[in-house]
Amino acid sequence: MTALPLVFDAPRRGMPPRHLADLTREEARTAVAELGHPAFRADQLARHFYRGVTDPAQMTDLPADTRQALTEALLPGLLTVVRHQTADDGRTRKTLWRLHDGALVESVLMRYPGRATVCISSQAGCGMACPFCATGQQGLTRNLSAAEIIGQAVAAAAAMANGELDGGPGRLSNVVFMGMGEPLANYARVRKTLDALLTPAPHGLGLSQRSVTVSTVGLVPAIRRLTEEGRNVTLAVSLHAPDDELRDTLVPINTRWKVGEVIDAADAYARKTGRRYSIEYALIRDVNDQPFRADLLGRLLAGKLAHVNLIPLNPTPGSKWDASPLPAQREFVARLRAAGVATTVRDTRGQDIDGACGQLAAADSVSVPSVALPMPAVEPPVELGAEGDE
Ligand code: SAH
Repeated sequence: MTALPLVFDAPRRGMPPRHLADLTREEARTAVAELGHPAFRADQLARHFYRGVTDPAQMTDLPADTRQALTEALLPGLLTVVRHQTADDGRTRKTLWRLHDGALVESVLMRYPGRATVCISSQAGCGMACPFCATGQQGLTRNLSAAEIIGQAVAAAAAMANGELDGGPGRLSNVVFMGMGEPLANYARVRKTLDALLTPAPHGLGLSQRSVTVSTVGLVPAIRRLTEEGRNVTLAVSLHAPDDELRDTLVPINTRWKVGEVIDAADAYARKTGRRYSIEYALIRDVNDQPFRADLLGRLLAGKLAHVNLIPLNPTPGSKWDASPLPAQREFVARLRAAGVATTVRDTRGQDIDGACGQLAAADSVSVPSVALPMPAVEPPVELGAEGDE
């Protein structure tokens, strides 16, 4: 494997104790056997985990005297609810999670007619420093482990199954990596998460490839790796500007991988997977919403297997920037469509709970009294093994 650039070398400190979801099925069976239990117990534990069962007392297919030990060894509770906040008449719920080392991350569950989507975090904080993004202002605390990322999706699936969102019981259908962090900067763990999301129950959540979206600032070598993986999930590229001069300031990693290289990598992904990618573009008043930039973007994407998702900027606290006014949004859409580019404007869920895209910034919530849930016994961090690139 070729050496990867420095941007992939996020800090390892604070990694959580070993969890079944970090392991392959074979590794989990070996781990269970090493603890002196029959290997098939690993499969039973996996079934409970992916169904959102956390209470050992409910694991009635395990001998009563092994439940506690097996749970502690392989299903340590890694995510503790600090609080839930709901919006949109109970159809959107943001959850603030505390991790074993005190780091905080958020996920947002959104119910729509006929589907339910969870937006999950892949890192605590983010190192990409996009100036309009609340998480980008925090800097990177650490990568999440695969189990910490998967756990957010499992919790959302369980919340849907239990009818915790308004509208009664339902099914989690979509996962988007649009919470905190840059997923492709935590590549190996995100790849493991994709496996868990796509693997049929009981060893995963059984989602379809098209209903999982990985969103990236455009880490070109990682997009190329994802292209080779054969997990044909939907790719979203956060472009925000069609020209390098402006993009260098809005998405600082652009100084390393330019617009043209990012689009080339996305095109290669589309060719390999047959799947249309989406271009995320936050419309910022008088910054990137000019008609000439719409035309530039139209020329950049015309004839490509791409779809533009315009997001009126969700202003972050203290930001000097604002969302584009409606007439500017409409003009932008019209020009893109005239260039033959499929374009939609994203509905911004959860704005009033700071749960919309780019608003996730868990650090301001530390002083909030937390819901008391038992914390797992913290074991020394373990090397996750077979990570290859970290
Ligand atoms: N790091 C990844 C995923 C996290 S952000 C990425 O950049 O793609 C998910 C999306 O929200 C990205 O498209 C991001 O650019 C966008 N976003 C960030 N801050 C925003 C804001 N204040 N308003 C609107 N969209 C924002």
